[in-house]
Amino acid sequence: MTSSTTFQPVLERIAEEVERTPRRGRPADYIPALAACDPRRFGMAVADLDGTVCGVGDWRQPFSAQSLTKVFTLALDLAREGDALWEHVGREPSGNPFNSLVQLEYENGIPRNPFINAGALVVTDRLHTRTGDASGELLSFLRTESGNPDLSFDPEVAASESAHGDRNAALGHFMASYGNIDNPVPTLLEQYFRQCSIAASCADLALATRFLARHGIRADGTRLLTRSQAKQINAIMLTCGTYDAAGDFAYRVGLPGKSGVGGGIIAVVPGRCTLCVWSPGLDERGNSVAGVAALDRFTTLTGLSVF
Ligand code: GLN
Repeated sequence: MTSSTTFQPVLERIAEEVERTPRRGRPADYIPALAACDPRRFGMAVADLDGTVCGVGDWRQPFSAQSLTKVFTLALDLAREGDALWEHVGREPSGNPFNSLVQLEYENGIPRNPFINAGALVVTDRLHTRTGDASGELLSFLRTESGNPDLSFDPEVAASESAHGDRNAALGHFMASYGNIDNPVPTLLEQYFRQCSIAASCADLALATRFLARHGIRADGTRLLTRSQAKQINAIMLTCGTYDAAGDFAYRVGLPGKSGVGGGIIAVVPGRCTLCVWSPGLDERGNSVAGVAALDRFTTLTGLSVF
């Protein structure tokens, strides 16, 4: 197998193209601590199955992982409770914004999928019940898989999100009214905001995502997920990972991917490699403009895709 360094020239070409692109979207401003990010920042990394990693631009610069963390909490919870999780959260695209409330009442407090905020709150709640410290469990997993012991929460981002967290609080309380949240909602929200605040680089996140390209096998060779569960998470990333733009993302990029409002996107080429791209300018659906464009170029130039 060729090493990820083979991708270095492709990444350099993509970075040059991004550099020439004028329109880059706007950083998320509903979380004030994220609003100040420079939308011209850009980084991209590719990690091989064996942990070789290469990158361009700001690929070693930590940024706010936000909803990228939803992939890892889903994996950690699914590994523990298996299919029982699916009684509490669905697996269908929502076709609605990531923080939408509207479907929850029609669907009796069961969120459409684990990657919209409502679904992620359910997963974090269940992981917290099982571990006593969902965000700590997540952080420790990310540190181990990335090989970076310095990864940590960003208390400023967590506090900023908590101070402007009415929408997530509403989602939590509403689902609690249907009996779909176990922990006290303030405890759940604290866990969720800490989870979202984790700062990590493209290199860290590409490395930490490798278990999904390795069919469920962690960096140390132990198994986190069954082969089938890894396939299931990749499928949900493809269909739900970029919210109401998932169809367009599948069309353009053709890989399982997950975005976050910090401007990051992780993507998986099963059996081959993982990617993470970061640029803070978002489109109106909350996906990084330059990030989607860069992944689109990557799969076009390399021919790598699940299709
Ligand atoms: N922390 C953010 C929120 O809950 C995560 C959203 C996202 O990245 N799409 O609103």
